[in-house]
Amino acid sequence: MALAPDHLGPTVTVGEILVEIMATSIGEGFRQPLDLVGPYPSGAPAIFTDQCARIGGSAAIVGAVGADDFGRLNVDRLARDGADVSAIAVVPDYPTGSAFVRYRADGSRDFVYNIATSAAARFGWSEAVATLVAKAGHLHVMGSALSMPSAVAVIDRAVEIVKERGGTLSFDPNLRKELRYDAETERRFSELVAMADLLLPSGEELERAAGVPGREAAIEKLLAMGIPEIALKEGARGASVFTADAEPLHVAAFAVTEVDPTGAGDCFGGAYVACRRLGSGIEEALTYACAAGARNVTVRGPMEGAGTRDELDAFIAATQRAAP
Ligand code: ATP
Ligand code: MG
Repeated sequence: MALAPDHLGPTVTVGEILVEIMATSIGEGFRQPLDLVGPYPSGAPAIFTDQCARIGGSAAIVGAVGADDFGRLNVDRLARDGADVSAIAVVPDYPTGSAFVRYRADGSRDFVYNIATSAAARFGWSEAVATLVAKAGHLHVMGSALSMPSAVAVIDRAVEIVKERGGTLSFDPNLRKELRYDAETERRFSELVAMADLLLPSGEELERAAGVPGREAAIEKLLAMGIPEIALKEGARGASVFTADAEPLHVAAFAVTEVDPTGAGDCFGGAYVACRRLGSGIEEALTYACAAGARNVTVRGPMEGAGTRDELDAFIAATQRAAP
């Protein structure tokens, strides 16, 4: 089915809320003094939520921050951009989650994370979460959250409630290919794929979600399973949408100079889901989503380039398309 309309209630995302602090120089690791810049608000679900809200969708996040400035930075940003922050817990005694990142010359990244042992992982089903989920119109799940027990507990309950009230589900597989997951996580992953009203894979996540090799075969299998819509993110090559009853639709990427690739996929997802829920057709939603992803990579910081509707309209009008 099509995604539930925006007026049914907010798009809810569950997971890590972090600050990102990044090295200003390209290189390997953190074993010498470096110039760093940050903190920037971050965490894949937070980036998604911020972009979803900025473009005009109703959006909310379930997660936790510490009672510190890193936490306030995140909550203030999300609230400023129009997201519902009522289900962000403020946890005493634990610091807000963080990720230190340094880009290597080949584009890969070195990280020092503090997530599992930070406030970011210390949330659960609470009265505030129950109240939010009871009025949610859509749930967006990120595969990365499946390795976080606190997120899994909330997602398991939220899926039932949101679907029960006529809401819909989107799933960004977002799993690290190199990580192996236990049988329970693999089972939950497959279940979410099968239940999704919209799948948002990138690269090899498509084949992983389908469980078969080859792009065509993977798409065919997922559509045959009854997944109504697949938005495939293709980086600097743009994105494509596949549905059972229409020809595939491809939108070329916007030609930009990439400054910081982090957050492109999450901004793409936030914009795509918001637009579809607000009534856009696939082509319009895909155009805004590609613009949101492209605009975000032109700015340093994981969500600093997330755009409002006006900013994205201006970006689309002013930016050339890359070769398809
Ligand atoms: P992430 O790296 O955040 O996990 P992802 O792999 O999920 O991202 P991408 O395909 O990298 O998703 O990016 C999402 C969308 O953003 C792309 O489909 C594209 O439209 C846009 N985008 C990303 N990078 C670029 C770029 N360098 N130039 C133009 N557009 C881009
Ligand atoms: Mg991704």
